Amino acid sequence: MCEEQTVSLVDVLEEDEELEEEASAVLAGSDSDHCSYPLGYVKRQALYACNTCTPKGGEAAGVCLACSYKCHEGHELFELYTKRNFRCDCGNRKFSDLQCKLQPEKDDINSLNKYSHNFFGVYCTCRRPYPDPDDPVEDEMIQCVVCEDWLHSRHLGCVVPDCVELQEMICEACMKRSPVLWVYAAHLAAAGPEEPKEEGPGAEEITAKSENHEKDVTEPSCKRSHEEAEPSCRLKELQAGGQKRVQSGAVFWPSGWRSKLCSCASCQLMLSEAGLSFLLDEADTVLEYENKGKTREREQPGTDPLMSALDNLSRVQQLEIIHGYNDMKTDLKDFLQRFAAEGKVVTSEDIRQFFEQQSSKRRRMDAGTFSCS
Ligand SMILES: [Zn+2]
Ligand SMILES: [Zn+2]
Ligand SMILES: [Zn+2]
Ligand SMILES: [Zn+2]
Ligand SMILES: [Zn+2]
Ligand SMILES: [Zn+2]
Repeated sequence: MCEEQTVSLVDVLEEDEELEEEASAVLAGSDSDHCSYPLGYVKRQALYACNTCTPKGGEAAGVCLACSYKCHEGHELFELYTKRNFRCDCGNRKFSDLQCKLQPEKDDINSLNKYSHNFFGVYCTCRRPYPDPDDPVEDEMIQCVVCEDWLHSRHLGCVVPDCVELQEMICEACMKRSPVLWVYAAHLAAAGPEEPKEEGPGAEEITAKSENHEKDVTEPSCKRSHEEAEPSCRLKELQAGGQKRVQSGAVFWPSGWRSKLCSCASCQLMLSEAGLSFLLDEADTVLEYENKGKTREREQPGTDPLMSALDNLSRVQQLEIIHGYNDMKTDLKDFLQRFAAEGKVVTSEDIRQFFEQQSSKRRRMDAGTFSCS
């Protein structure tokens, strides 16, 4: 588990610059110095919304990691964790006063960006802030891989599996928007809610609707695929298999489930029309994004001893850092200064304890996704 390791504190304090660089590796590929705008719509990046510059009531906007540091320092930022296919808005038409310090030349708007209530600091179907001062219930939040909103586990409409590590969740609203997902869910995902909330006409209606929808989508392409003698469609096989599943609640998908989706020409077209092409791309996952950052960190020579210690932390603790790196850094420096004053060395055990204290006072938004112990 956590190997005992001695760290020279003075080294750590002197390497603050490097620490920042390394922490951006924990931020997996999100550049903390350069605005990501020139890269276009980035496949996945850490994103922030600024309540100071673009408050509720106006237009939603999102800014990249570097802009959150350099252009919005001291502003009230919402940490959005990561989102896919987004282009930095910092200083564009949506910002009346602010000019981007890093990349002032931007188009007026980024028309392909998708925005949600998250950009105004509210989450879930209950549209509440996080942390929520008026909510006495301690609850974890889990991110839907399709709409990328965060939902309270108690608002998912399903039982959260005991171990959700490496699992992806699709919320009920997204499932209902793309009924083909229920076909896969019946074969690939964890069983549905044990006690269906309603067996009434509501559920049947959905089934009927989804069947119609599938016919609309697949029938024309079936014919075509026959003519062109394409390889058989896995989705059609599953549909013929006829397994049923309760069509309510969010669905948890096991690790590697995306690779089991059919990627024949007609399925690709159908997923693309539903705006779900990313499901066929393993590299789209948050897990892949984080692994990329970890690899980058390991490849860097002269790895900071502090960051090696961080490697031994759980994913929850690492992600806490992502959510509050700046605050954390200040606290960590204070923490380390105490050791310096006393001339002590810091061990990875000290650092582990530090992060444990941090996590008890910090938002635990992502904890649900990685809370296996
Ligand atoms: Zn930017
Ligand atoms: Zn701002
Ligand atoms: Zn900026
Ligand atoms: Zn909720
Ligand atoms: Zn969703
Ligand atoms: Zn297919």
